[in-house]
Amino acid sequence: MSRPRKVHVKSFGCQMNVYDSHRMADALAPAGFIETARIDDADLVILNTCNIREKAVDKLYSEIGRVREFKEAAERDGRRMLIAVAGCVAQAEGQEIVRRASAVDLVVGSQNYHRLPGMIARLQDNDIAGEKIVDTEFPAEDKFDVLAAPSRSTIAKRGIAAFVTVQEGCDKFCTFCVVPYTRGAEVSRAVGKIAAEVERLAAAGVREVTLIGQNVNAYHGTGADGRPATLAQLLRRLSDVPGIVRLRYTTSHPLDMSDDLIAAHRDLPALMPYVHLPVQSGSDRMLAAMNRRHTRRHYLDAIARLRAGRADLAFSSDFIVGFPGETEDDFRDTLTLVDEVGYAGAYTFSYSPRPGTPAAEMEPVPQAVSAERLQRLQAVITRHQRSFNTSFIGRTVDVLLEKPGRLPGQLVGKTPYLQTVQVMAGLELIGSVEPVAITGTGTNTLFGAITMPAHAPVFATAGA
Ligand code: SAM
Ligand code: SF4
Repeated sequence: MSRPRKVHVKSFGCQMNVYDSHRMADALAPAGFIETARIDDADLVILNTCNIREKAVDKLYSEIGRVREFKEAAERDGRRMLIAVAGCVAQAEGQEIVRRASAVDLVVGSQNYHRLPGMIARLQDNDIAGEKIVDTEFPAEDKFDVLAAPSRSTIAKRGIAAFVTVQEGCDKFCTFCVVPYTRGAEVSRAVGKIAAEVERLAAAGVREVTLIGQNVNAYHGTGADGRPATLAQLLRRLSDVPGIVRLRYTTSHPLDMSDDLIAAHRDLPALMPYVHLPVQSGSDRMLAAMNRRHTRRHYLDAIARLRAGRADLAFSSDFIVGFPGETEDDFRDTLTLVDEVGYAGAYTFSYSPRPGTPAAEMEPVPQAVSAERLQRLQAVITRHQRSFNTSFIGRTVDVLLEKPGRLPGQLVGKTPYLQTVQVMAGLELIGSVEPVAITGTGTNTLFGAITMPAHAPVFATAGA
């Protein structure tokens, strides 16, 4: 019997890349590839790269060096291993990758994953020594229309919480960001296609779906009536899918926080009350230099409108410190904004110049100043996060139980606010939402006990 062909996909960066990695594996399944967690065992290794922050290119070449050793070992065993580079670094660097790293066989841009089986077949079956393929064109066809769907068993293996890309690319052109160049113009998938994908996921046991896009609330895919639908309309449609008890979306832009999305938070119990709304800076001067196209006031108004729609909403954000020209006063504006909003969590980044972006031409802030500001910002955010988490002690909160914990008899789940919770419970409760009385908190985890074990999934209630 011939050995099944195996693919190992290593994902760097955001959830969109994790989703793309799954879709690449799904696209290769009909060609007989099964996924493997082991590089040494793989016939094909795909490095799905991200270049949102610095050293992405250096990281890629050192990773290729590591995989090349496995490739050489496979060759010594008389086995051929192909190395493919995908994602945003592939899109940006293209041909340069095969020029610099001879171990790489294939470079595939982020819009061309549906063509992978054909490219692999060409490399593997024809066995043309030294042939390289580089495909980083933006194709006319929509990759989502032609990508193979995962099987039920593959979906089940990936767990009860899934990501679904609904929108890709970005037209906003923040001056620090490479996304508009590497992911291209903003495109949205049609409501019917997303609904069909979510229905398939639900039928295979998925209970929570996070809709992802670089600017997910700018979503404008074609609706059932042939007209563009908003993210709120899409969420309303998906909240009707049987089995889906939780819906989330990320990442939003403050400019696109529309009234109908706020109303969806008010009306849809399945839409979780936790919103990731990146602001980047609390200083209007910096927001203008970043071309964010919103002010501090506009951002705070969006938060206030959201809270007026649903009082128990909590927020997280992204921040960049040390953007060119940032003064101590600008940075203090960021600290006061953090205190004003009271975030439940946030991602903080030191600005890194990205080649080809307008900010890369601007005068940088000294590295030591950036590093010091980053630490101060992180300290303030950690204080808010701790106080948010400890405010749950003594409360009962709905927890979607996701998987076994590290201890026997333990399950791990998530609150509506994406806090991890550990409880003692049987495996049969995986996939159900249970009320959990919170008794304590660790650094990143809440501890508690189920107050009223149920055996059938119960739906999340608003007002955790
Ligand atoms: N579209 C989202 C938005 O508008 O906020 C986020 C997209 S980006 C993938 C995720 C985060 O990476 C950004 O919010 C920003 O904080 C950070 N980021 C992007 N470019 C950066 C750069 N050049 N230096 C540091 N951080 C950066
Ligand atoms: Fe990048 Fe700005 Fe677009 Fe977000 S909105 S993806 S930060 S350009």
